[in-house]
Amino acid sequence: MRHLKKNGIIVYLDVPPIDIVSRLKLMKIDRIVGQNSGTSMKDLLKFRRQYYKKWYDTRVLCEDGASPEEVADKVLNAVKRYQDVDSETFISTRHIWPKDCEQKVPTKFFSEAVIEGLAPDGGLFVPEKEFPKLNCGEWKSLVGATYIERAQILLEKCIHPADIPASRLGEMIETAYGENFACSKIAPVRHLSGNQFILELFHGPTGSFKDLSLQLMPHLFAHCIPPSCNYMILVATSGDTGSAVLNGFSRLSKNDKQRIAVATFFPEDGVSDFQKAQIIGSQNENGWAVGVKSDFDFCQTSIKRIFQDSDFTGFLTVEYGTVLSSANSINWGRLLPQVVYHASAYLDLVSQGFISFGSPVDVCIPTGNFGNILAAVYAKTMGIPIRKFICASNQNHVLTDFIKTGHYDLRERKLAQTFSPAIDILKSSNLERHLHLMANKDGQLMTRLFNQLEEQHHFQIEKILVEKVQQDFVADWCSEEECLAAIHSTYNTCGYILDPHTAVAKVVADRMQDKTCPVIISSTAHYSKFAPAIMQALKIKEISQTSSSQVYLLSSYNALPPPHEALLERTKQQEKMECQVCAADVNVLKSHVEKLVQNHFI
Ligand SMILES: *Cc1c(COP(=O)(O)O)cnc(C)c1O
Repeated sequence: MRHLKKNGIIVYLDVPPIDIVSRLKLMKIDRIVGQNSGTSMKDLLKFRRQYYKKWYDTRVLCEDGASPEEVADKVLNAVKRYQDVDSETFISTRHIWPKDCEQKVPTKFFSEAVIEGLAPDGGLFVPEKEFPKLNCGEWKSLVGATYIERAQILLEKCIHPADIPASRLGEMIETAYGENFACSKIAPVRHLSGNQFILELFHGPTGSFKDLSLQLMPHLFAHCIPPSCNYMILVATSGDTGSAVLNGFSRLSKNDKQRIAVATFFPEDGVSDFQKAQIIGSQNENGWAVGVKSDFDFCQTSIKRIFQDSDFTGFLTVEYGTVLSSANSINWGRLLPQVVYHASAYLDLVSQGFISFGSPVDVCIPTGNFGNILAAVYAKTMGIPIRKFICASNQNHVLTDFIKTGHYDLRERKLAQTFSPAIDILKSSNLERHLHLMANKDGQLMTRLFNQLEEQHHFQIEKILVEKVQQDFVADWCSEEECLAAIHSTYNTCGYILDPHTAVAKVVADRMQDKTCPVIISSTAHYSKFAPAIMQALKIKEISQTSSSQVYLLSSYNALPPPHEALLERTKQQEKMECQVCAADVNVLKSHVEKLVQNHFI
């Protein structure tokens, strides 16, 4: 293998083991080289796989029944892609295409998009070309695959090997999803009732779907940054991101932790007690939490402002050799791993026999910053037949109104605090990426709309664009009472406890979905993160004092999903920890950032 690697490109012809076995049968061969009596074909193939995985440069997925000519074509394409090192680039959503075709477009590589987070012009990075597509046979070959295998194949199609070599990416994926999740299926799909399925995205270490991207993203990030700089990652969190970011980055190697640190800013009074304890308790040697006396939108806007303050960022670079970056859901490295679970959920429905490959499903997603639902859109562009994207909001329903009318209007809105705080959001950042896609990459339009949002607090898109959005999207919102009622009735009828975000999606799915195909409801958090709301919903009288005793009480109900052991364990020790608190003032946030940089890197 080493010799091959030195002398050429190694192409991994990836054939599902069951296809290999049936081919051998056709050829009337019952054993292969190296197979002793007593070893099964399956074990031998598994043994060999580790060598392929370690050394290959590019993979060709060989679907069942592909002809030699088709496979040969794929090999040529794979080699071409491998050699074409600057073919897969990223642009800002606000990029304006030059009139003169000769002029060079200022593009970025995947690694740059991950490091920089936000584009210099204030837009978000998106791939310049279309998402890679898998054909039907290729998808079918993933039906029997594990989550890790699916992630490896999908993500290596989206990340050029010049940015991260496929075999290295594979190792990162194994580290991310190997042992840190409480369920070996990582993101299992559970039949709830009728045509409704729950995609359980909360089995990661911090109990929310944020773990799905944040167990992987730090490894991508550490690989992409240049070795000579320190990186301080700034995160605004509406609750779940904070602990997930802190947890994800704490799993880097010791070396990487010395050069990468995290500061998370959260609204002091805008997250649940449990979430707050969890964020604070997730602080560690390279990560801190800072409470801000304001709401999430303030935290997010301030961080954007800090990034755009070139005097400040320049000062940090010169004075401390430190660069600022973000790990918010606007970061491409966060968004991309989320595509996998949407595809994986669909494949699970196929493998469990609920649908056959190719038949449509709807997805219903409690939406805040639009990351989760946008990842589902990307899964569709890769070939997963998602019919409708059902966008669910709570009473902060700016997105519902926008999808219904094309008018994004913040003028009369005040952020309300709800039982589902992670979607208490007014400025839904990733929407810009979706509009960019819908508007055929019209950066000029994006610049105009989002500047207008900044200055006049609203924008209206034209009718033709509204209709295009509405082709795939429907939206609605759920009141606080409906949310609690859904938790109550689902527990009574199915013995399943929904977290409040999932309940928002369930209410909207019940109302909006036409029942002609399955609907996959994203369950974005484990219910135990929101114990007080659950107790209220289930009309449990004894509201205990500490959040950990509430969580313990709920877990004694023997309901589904099972208790989240890692969360239970950690809540106890988290209640007494403290964090810094700062005033709602960008300059105060800045001085916090500088102090943390100083302490960690100097
Ligand atoms: C972050 C979060 C959401 C919102 O996800 P977006 O990708 O921002 O739309 C929903 N539910 C929970 C529990 C979350 O933590």
